[in-house]
Amino acid sequence: MIDQTAFSITASDILEYLYCPRFIYFENYLDIPQHQEKRFKVQKGRDVHDDKQRINPAYLRKKLGCIERKSSVYLSSARGIRGIVDEILFLDDGSAAPLDYKYAEYKERTFKNHKYQLTFYGQLIQDNYNVAANRGFIVYTRSRNKLIEVPITEKMYLELDIIISDLTDVVQKGIYPKPTRYKQRCPDCCYRNLCERTI
Ligand code: SF4
Repeated sequence: MIDQTAFSITASDILEYLYCPRFIYFENYLDIPQHQEKRFKVQKGRDVHDDKQRINPAYLRKKLGCIERKSSVYLSSARGIRGIVDEILFLDDGSAAPLDYKYAEYKERTFKNHKYQLTFYGQLIQDNYNVAANRGFIVYTRSRNKLIEVPITEKMYLELDIIISDLTDVVQKGIYPKPTRYKQRCPDCCYRNLCERTI
């Protein structure tokens, strides 16, 4: 079993938890790795660190009032979360915003998991820089770098708090979580045989 005292939550953990809360139990509490070929099918997007084309700074300044930006910033916080933010934009209204590149096309809506990922990065920014982060941005690299603004509300931060707390309970106390509400995710799941859910 892993050293759960050293566990700190990443954005990927949040995405897995949102996909099915039991993944974290099997993978992080019981320490049973996922089979790569049957990994969950969340739209994670390809890692675009190597091929992303950074948005032009003059464009960001004009469109968003960005006065400073930092790239690939590793942040951690006392609430037990950590991650690398693609970009942090410091805006002329005194706030800051995470910007995340997705190797994906924009489909006229922002997926829930992408919103929570931005909220997660927003929390890291707030904890480290002591500034408000009430919006974030996603760049869809397969839609000609389309830039989408996503509000990050107090409600989203409160929901993130609950997810972090529940997820920590699973890893540190071994609390067995509820299954996903979406049955269609189960037949392909690598933990299907372990999970007592009747499919
Ligand atoms: S079988 Fe379904 S409920 Fe169980 S871990 Fe897999 S996705 Fe979650």
